[in-house]
Amino acid sequence: MQKYRKEIIIAEISTKMFRAKKGVDTRCSLEYRLFHQLFIGSLDCMVFFLFLYVDVKTREQKRYTIRQIAVRVAPISIAIVAVIFGKLEYHVGTDGRYSYGFMAMTVYSSMFIYIFMTMYKLIKCKEGLGEYERRNILYGIGIWEILALIQLLRPVWLLSSIGVALMLLFVYLSFENPRIYVDYEVAHASNRRAFDVILTEQIEKRKPFIFVNITIINDTLLRNTYGNQEILKVLDELAQYMGSEFRETIYHIDKCSIGMILSKAKFKLVESCLAEIQRTGKEADELTSLLISALECPRYADTKDVVENIREFIESRKTVLAADEILYVNEKIIGTLKKQELIERVVQKALQEDGLEVYYQPIYAAKQNRFLSAEALVRLKDRETVGYISPEVFIPIAERCNMIEELGEIVFDKVCRFYKEERLAEWGVQYIEVNLSGKQIVNKNLPNTLLQCVKKYGISPKVVNLEITETAAVKAESIQIDNMRRLREEGFDFSMDDFGTGYSNLAEMKNGNFDLIKLDKSLIWPCFEENGADACVILDTCIDMIHKLKKHIVAEGVETREQVQYLTEREVSYLQGYYFSKPLDEKSYLAFLFAHEKKADAECI
Ligand code: C2E
Ligand code: CA
Ligand code: CA
Repeated sequence: MQKYRKEIIIAEISTKMFRAKKGVDTRCSLEYRLFHQLFIGSLDCMVFFLFLYVDVKTREQKRYTIRQIAVRVAPISIAIVAVIFGKLEYHVGTDGRYSYGFMAMTVYSSMFIYIFMTMYKLIKCKEGLGEYERRNILYGIGIWEILALIQLLRPVWLLSSIGVALMLLFVYLSFENPRIYVDYEVAHASNRRAFDVILTEQIEKRKPFIFVNITIINDTLLRNTYGNQEILKVLDELAQYMGSEFRETIYHIDKCSIGMILSKAKFKLVESCLAEIQRTGKEADELTSLLISALECPRYADTKDVVENIREFIESRKTVLAADEILYVNEKIIGTLKKQELIERVVQKALQEDGLEVYYQPIYAAKQNRFLSAEALVRLKDRETVGYISPEVFIPIAERCNMIEELGEIVFDKVCRFYKEERLAEWGVQYIEVNLSGKQIVNKNLPNTLLQCVKKYGISPKVVNLEITETAAVKAESIQIDNMRRLREEGFDFSMDDFGTGYSNLAEMKNGNFDLIKLDKSLIWPCFEENGADACVILDTCIDMIHKLKKHIVAEGVETREQVQYLTEREVSYLQGYYFSKPLDEKSYLAFLFAHEKKADAECI
């Protein structure tokens, strides 16, 4: 009771201060009104700026449209108008509780809206703000909310402004914490987050700068030979050397790359030293050879995302781009990147909209004089956007962009459906060769996926021969061995593709995983060129060796009668190439089988 009376007294004193009458507009002096306006207005502004900070940080797109600006500033604009022109009301209820009127309520509503939007952004958009910073801002808001709630229940305890102060203190502490920029793997470099912050700042300044990226070319080999620690050690030594030599911040950007952001003038100063680092890296050890690239911004990249795309693109082709000199990003590289991005979009669309089709290239069985099998080769239906794109071009892109598994599943499904629906077995087709990418074969779900598919169409795994192309580096060899073993147990057979290109492994041949070896055209064609005698020795020896290992051979790229004769004389069992047929769409392939079966029948009679 005592406490309750005290509250009423405080309220009354406050009321007198503002010369308020109960429930009536307060005609306070200009001075009181001004300070009240400043107090309440600045509270709202603080919350608004906090929201703005979080919003800008968590947005991918830094520029706002007029509509987006309007939505964001609407609550505070209304509140400010209310603060400037609204009535300064101050009520004391009959129960002794007092409350503010329209002006204050508008401000508090605006504050609540911004607090809510800030929390939404913090919880929903995890990019842009570090975990530590996000947590601190959330704690700060939490404290403000608790204190505001207490004030709501006990209006005379003016805690909400203390809450705002504490909230901002928390936010401030998170800014000031340098821990978030420390890299724990490469001690002499700042982390990726620091790089993102500085890069964004540089781009916003709209002043020219050079982004230098330094990457270890043979990182996979280095990791497989000495482990990941060795990569970090190499990067750290480089960062330490460059940091002290150039007096610039070095950033640890990716698992095997570090980088710098330099002004054009600074780049000119360090350019020759960078070239020297590149040269010595290569001479010292093939394993530690580097690719140093220089990207001029904003000339070639005017947003953070474009810088990142170009960096990833260079990273994905570093073995091809490797040179003795610094790689200066130019129009040509940008052109290739744009084309690749376009192809990526075409493939993505094809996956979503049934835009893939499978062509079949008949394989001729010499002894039986029939087409007993065929190779399934994927095609994109879309020939308009960029014209015809060879699988040789889009398969590696699909591999890099993690689309190959989905693509492989679609092809496999289409092959099984076609084999079943068109009853290819009745046409004498014993099996279809299906290409598997190096990435698919190291996916531990592969056996289940393929098995489910053959079960779905009620066909035997024996009607599919899996060709392994080693386009992607095989990192987890044991998974590949496990997958192949499981698939063989289930009845699938394997063919070693592209024998003779350097990708096929001689050591692999002896372990009995492959039933069929496909001789690449590069092994066959040179025999029929001028001075092809040596090439013939190589080809004959390969054929002889594979025969001795009791495996079947498919010769690829057979284009002439002369080649057919040469290969059949050496008892190569299967021939595939334009001499017999190009890859055909489903309908044409069926017509091809129909024509040839009839011919074979006629020959039998
Ligand atoms: P590959 O597996 O070595 O396929 C044989 C390629 O040689 C095919 O090219 C085929 O059209 C071509 N070819 C066949 N006979 C001849 C000939 O007599 N002369 C010439 N010049 N070329 C001939 P394609 O269809 O463009 O496929 C290229 C590569 O793309 C394939 O090489 C394979 O590595 C990959 N690929 C194709 N389809 C798939 C697929 O469904 N999945 C995966 N992972 N890779 C595929
Ligand atoms: Ca193949
Ligand atoms: Ca091949």
